[in-house]
Amino acid sequence: MPDLIHNLEAVQQRIAMAAHVAGRDARSIALLAVSKTFPAEDVRAAHVAGQCAFGENYVQEAITKIEALADLRGTLEWHFIGPLQSNKTRPVAEQFDWVHSVDRLKIAQRLSEQRPDNLPALNVCLQVNISGETSKSGLSVAEAVEVAREIAALPKLKLRGLMAIPEPVGSIDEQRVPHRRLRELFERLRDEGLQLDTLSMGMSNDLEAAVLEGATIVRVGTAIFGARDYSN
Ligand SMILES: *Cc1c(COP(=O)(O)O)cnc(C)c1O
Repeated sequence: MPDLIHNLEAVQQRIAMAAHVAGRDARSIALLAVSKTFPAEDVRAAHVAGQCAFGENYVQEAITKIEALADLRGTLEWHFIGPLQSNKTRPVAEQFDWVHSVDRLKIAQRLSEQRPDNLPALNVCLQVNISGETSKSGLSVAEAVEVAREIAALPKLKLRGLMAIPEPVGSIDEQRVPHRRLRELFERLRDEGLQLDTLSMGMSNDLEAAVLEGATIVRVGTAIFGARDYSN
């Protein structure tokens, strides 16, 4: 676990440094620790070190972890960031605080219908396919405006902003291009009257580029928890 604490500090330092270069307040950038494939004990250790927001990609794995950490309920914030099928929305609507990966209206409608009345609105981001790769999920930039309007009107959701997973590229200048495109779309939606405050972009390898382009949440897994093992 000492690694984990050291890694968390190192990531916070990277965020602070990039914020400084960008002339931004580092407190305007939240760190989401992506704990997929790592056990509940690692989440607990990160929480002891001061980390509160955790990202998960797989519904069943996440629910098991959330239940194992039920004693920390109220002090942890759970963000769903993986692909979401419409038959798996209910546990997500019931157990999570955020969903970053909303990529179609139908998913949003189900999440809104299934969000329990006693919970606050579920925070959501629209996932946008910013690199234009056919294999990756996400709305096209062209579709995003219309879908954002429809989702913003759903009663039990709060549309917070946009999320993207750009294609990996080498240099920081190249990394900035898709992040800039997402920010431009974000600004356009705000100009059209949508009250958005969240740009979820940047991962272990490109968080500096994302912060330079205005990220408000960076989603970091490997640089905190280490390399993932998908063998089980
Ligand atoms: C796994 C994952 C991350 C974290 O990626 P790292 O490269 O390990 O930091 C971030 N966002 C999403 C959507 C992911 O699936």
